[in-house]
Amino acid sequence: MSHLQQVTVLGATGSIGLSTLDVIARHPERYQVFALSGFSRLAELEALCMIYRPRFAVVPQAQAADQLQATLRAAGLATQVLHGPEGLCQVAAHPDVNTVMAAIVGAAGLPPTLAAVEAGKKVLLANKEALVMSGALFMQAVKRSGAVLLPIDSEHNAIFQCLPGDYSLGLQQVGVRRILLTASGGPFREMPLEQLHTVTPEQACAHPNWSMGRKISVDSASMMNKGLELIEACWLFDATPAQIEVVVHPQSVIHSLVDYVDGSVLAQLGNPDMRTPITHALAWPERIDSGVAPLDLFAVARLDFQAPDEQRFPCLRLAREAAQAGGTAPAMLNAVNEVAVAAFLERRIRFPEIASMIEDVLHTEPALAVESLDAVLAADSRARDLAEQWLSRR
Ligand code: NDP
Ligand code: MG
Repeated sequence: MSHLQQVTVLGATGSIGLSTLDVIARHPERYQVFALSGFSRLAELEALCMIYRPRFAVVPQAQAADQLQATLRAAGLATQVLHGPEGLCQVAAHPDVNTVMAAIVGAAGLPPTLAAVEAGKKVLLANKEALVMSGALFMQAVKRSGAVLLPIDSEHNAIFQCLPGDYSLGLQQVGVRRILLTASGGPFREMPLEQLHTVTPEQACAHPNWSMGRKISVDSASMMNKGLELIEACWLFDATPAQIEVVVHPQSVIHSLVDYVDGSVLAQLGNPDMRTPITHALAWPERIDSGVAPLDLFAVARLDFQAPDEQRFPCLRLAREAAQAGGTAPAMLNAVNEVAVAAFLERRIRFPEIASMIEDVLHTEPALAVESLDAVLAADSRARDLAEQWLSRR
């Protein structure tokens, strides 16, 4: 490859952001950091700016932007510091950017991710919430703009790798029978059900196989993560919920599988390290080193599979129902889940109440058709209000 790829990393201070920068640092002849964003960890963002010397940095507020601008200028950096959602959209859609890593967590990532898509960038999608919220509009924007959308979520990246290049013709057309979406089952897979109401945020965030941000760690513990991923897979691969089967695979070595009509089942395997899907997507269609150790099958020794237990993990059922309902239902599911996870992390509710809150709110609020981004954002904000009311009634 002859010219240096300019990369914007949205959510640079997070788990995916840092893994992305680790991969970029291994290939300075290929990638240059164009912009970095942070939200609460601004000292970390400053340190990253010193190392990667981006053209732009983005922080949430004007005052923080002025502060960081002064520090970077004093250190002799030409980095320009922007702020707020407009700043994020600007660095996502900037004409000089080739690739955007969308690694902001939650609904806050939707506007800049969509801006990158609309500007026709190569978009590496970690922020699954953006696609869950606005699926139809998001995928229409990809088609319209010619953006190249590559999944970073390890399961979706695995499915992408196991599908033929022309899968957009339709799954049936290319001989796919089912997609098998693997799930680790999280830290509470085997805990006695009656103990689930006693679990702490620390226990929920201690994932057995993956090191991740706190929100997705709680989602993994409730299996809402798999529910969001089911919806994500429907949009990415134009599948129906019925074409996707969730398979609990506690070792997290097989990252997902594709079952073809001739009985062939293709799987993608690897150590549970997000640098593999990140590197795959960054370099696609080439292959380059990610720094991930080779898979030692003798050390893994065995691979186990179980059916998911929806009594233990009602969030999986709720997500499947939202996927089937369509319209604004997935955006509402996502919004209530974000409020519920934050409340659980603040110790305001118990772990099983995450599912109760989502179920109660979704059952009182009908799903509407989605015609515009405004309709999605209105559903998101209405669901957040209802979730807050649920909290105050509790
Ligand atoms: P982290 O919590 O580690 O990082 C989140 C990033 O988003 C941070 O840079 C954070 O800034 C920034 N951020 C948080 N809130 C806002 C906001 N309101 N506006 C702008 N920026 C914000 O999460 P992860 O890296 O684990 O996950 C990121 C995304 O990737 C999520 O959507 C997750 O579902 C997805 N994902 C993650 C995987 C993983 O292994 N970690 C695997 C698959 C998908 P700051 O830290 O400065 O506050
Ligand atoms: Mg995943």
